[in-house]
Amino acid sequence: MAMAKENPFANALEQLKIAAEHLKLDPGVHEVLKRPKRIMEVSIPVRMDDGRTDVFVGYRVQYNDARGPYKGGIRYHPGVTLDEVKALSAWMTWKCAVADLPFGGAKGGIVCDPKAMSPSELERMTRRYTTAISEAIGPDKDIPAPDVYTNAQVMAWILDTYSQLKGYMVPGVVTGKPISLGGSLGRDSATGRGAAFCTREAARVAKLPLKGATFAVQGYGNAGSNYATILEGMGARMVAASDSSGGVFCKKGLDARKLLRHKEKTGSVTGFPSSEEVSSEELLETECDILAPAALENTITREMAKDVKARMVVECANGPTTPGADEVLDSNGVMVVPDILANSGGVIVSYLEWVQNLDRLWWTVEEVNSKLERKIVGAFHGVHAQAAKSGVSMRTGALMVGVGKVAEAIKTLGIWP
Ligand code: NAD
Repeated sequence: MAMAKENPFANALEQLKIAAEHLKLDPGVHEVLKRPKRIMEVSIPVRMDDGRTDVFVGYRVQYNDARGPYKGGIRYHPGVTLDEVKALSAWMTWKCAVADLPFGGAKGGIVCDPKAMSPSELERMTRRYTTAISEAIGPDKDIPAPDVYTNAQVMAWILDTYSQLKGYMVPGVVTGKPISLGGSLGRDSATGRGAAFCTREAARVAKLPLKGATFAVQGYGNAGSNYATILEGMGARMVAASDSSGGVFCKKGLDARKLLRHKEKTGSVTGFPSSEEVSSEELLETECDILAPAALENTITREMAKDVKARMVVECANGPTTPGADEVLDSNGVMVVPDILANSGGVIVSYLEWVQNLDRLWWTVEEVNSKLERKIVGAFHGVHAQAAKSGVSMRTGALMVGVGKVAEAIKTLGIWP
């Protein structure tokens, strides 16, 4: 995929500026919101299986906690940079506010190639990283979760390491952990499910019947594959999907569950029976009603946005559309359901997991899914109403809601001393 080298944090600041202008934000508060409250960079020595010592660089950025403890995932990827983690932590801050969760925003990452590492190397790296940031995290301080190339097992290692250091089990220190350790039912599919609920609401607003609507998913991982499965259950048809190895297309439709099983068996969506191969670029230009970027940032750039044929873009990924691309999509009448709304199902169910841990509750999957639906549908209509009232896009509407709530909390707290 031709990833433009735009700086994600510069893009996040550009979005903040647009929201600040529309909100007529106090310039002092705008200054506060331009910077993370705390940045940690840690060095992580790891004994590799062949006896060598490798040293990895890890980050945890705590952007803002005016509305509650910091919250945000941890990413393992060779392309992780400090500016990427800063951007993701800013988006988490606005996202938690849009969904009205009592959390601030944070994000973490380690620059590594997890696909080239053994499970024991990944475990040692995770435990050493957790030790390095242990003073800064905790159920009342900062609660990590999975992100790209981290999963429930990684959360279990973080939970165990943190609990060993404390001397007692602290399930609420992470979310997205295995069910056996206090994870929530419904968390694994929550991001995709939330994005599907947003798509359903957006389709109603746009008068697009979901039954028979076609969609394409870029990035068939946790968010993308769950989104596809749930949207398919709502009557839509997936015509294209991709992952880091390539993409597949089938006009008649790709069965979402079968495609996932194929990826689990072979490691990629490519080679799926009865499909044609397409490149990642071609996938973004697929003739379809709904395009769901579900991989990484900077996927839809100003240069290629004109080639997007979908009527609607639902951002399962964080930061997939650059501000330049937003302008093009806007002027072409493409409705963008922005990341800080569309993929907030993950953090909403993380919140439900945290509440269950703190209150020693166990909710059924039906209870979790219906609380998720209520929360995200409410957030969708809050954003839609803001966008309609201010005559702006859904992106700007969402930023106005999110940034506005964080700004209000900062002003009300005041500056001490
Ligand atoms: P994941 O690791 O499960 O899946 C990522 C997928 O993207 C993989 O299938 C990978 O092969 C694919 N991919 C990577 N590079 C690609 C490329 N260049 N072209 C096409 N596909 C590519 O990760 P995930 O948890 O599903 O996260 C995906 C996105 O969703 C990220 O932006 C993440 O921040 C966002 N997100 C995830 C959650 C969550 O709960 N998992 C919550 C909110 C937002």
